[in-house]
Amino acid sequence: MAKSGPTAKAPGPIGVAEAERLLGATGKEAVELYARAGRVAKGHARRGVHLCGVVNAKSGRCPEDCAFCAQSARSKTDAPVYSLMSEDDLFRAGDRAEREGLNCFGIVLSGRGLRSRSEVDRLCRVYRRFERAGFRFRRGLSAGILRRGDLKRLRDAGGQSFHHNLETARSFYPSICTTRTYDDNVAAILLAREAGFEICSGALFGMGESDAQRVELAIHLGELAVVSIPLNFLSPIPGTPLERQNDLKPEKCLNIIAVYRLLLPEADLHVCGGRPRHLAKSSETIFSAGASGMMTGNYLTTPGFAPADDRRMIKRAGLAQRARPDR
Ligand code: SF4
Repeated sequence: MAKSGPTAKAPGPIGVAEAERLLGATGKEAVELYARAGRVAKGHARRGVHLCGVVNAKSGRCPEDCAFCAQSARSKTDAPVYSLMSEDDLFRAGDRAEREGLNCFGIVLSGRGLRSRSEVDRLCRVYRRFERAGFRFRRGLSAGILRRGDLKRLRDAGGQSFHHNLETARSFYPSICTTRTYDDNVAAILLAREAGFEICSGALFGMGESDAQRVELAIHLGELAVVSIPLNFLSPIPGTPLERQNDLKPEKCLNIIAVYRLLLPEADLHVCGGRPRHLAKSSETIFSAGASGMMTGNYLTTPGFAPADDRRMIKRAGLAQRARPDR
């Protein structure tokens, strides 16, 4: 398993030291950073903006203790609590995603992983129905750490993209989650890839990590050859351990997007959670800073922007949505 550290080599057109320095860019240096990242992002812009969405298919009572999450059993939030939605409700959510023209639609379940055979069976039936219906979005799944056999069944049933965020750098992860390790997450990703899934894995910024740790994570995502990377920015949720954590500014979020673009020139960078809170006023700028996609609609437990509004924003930026199916 590849490990990153101070001696790791940055995979993109900038080095580690420069990346760390540019995360703090302001004024003219920040403008130059976005212009440079924008040039690297040109190829992605030609393909169009990738739009993804999710359904919170099973919510709350998660035994993990991720410090940012409203759904952890250790948080004191009013996040909804329910078991896996019915097959028909999941299909309806997919049907809505299809009508909204999403490029990727993810079924997201809280919890350590799928522990009951009936959950796996239901998800398999839903993916088969999506396929039979001819839906043109990529069929995503985010369900924690899965067993090899379940992954294989879900892939055979038509699951395509496995989402599992590393969340933060290995060196910071124990400050965020103590019920599993960073390497548990890496193993989950590698197992899903072995089962034939494409991997979607990214970060949540603003949890108290340093700029060096932001670069550390980017380098490891590059080493793992992850090509679809969600960039989330913390919206502190009352009742979670990080409820008072609030050190992100819009300029910092844009710097992170731009530096990730320079470190990971080939990857799809999707701006996801925290966009309404941190980037609403600089919405189109995410693309000139290097993003190639975004999540639209509501997030798991917080509201987002309507797909029609996001499409208008894409147009204002002089871009178009990516064609479907997109690969
Ligand atoms: S594993 Fe997922 S649902 Fe559970 S606490 Fe962590 S982020 Fe929340």
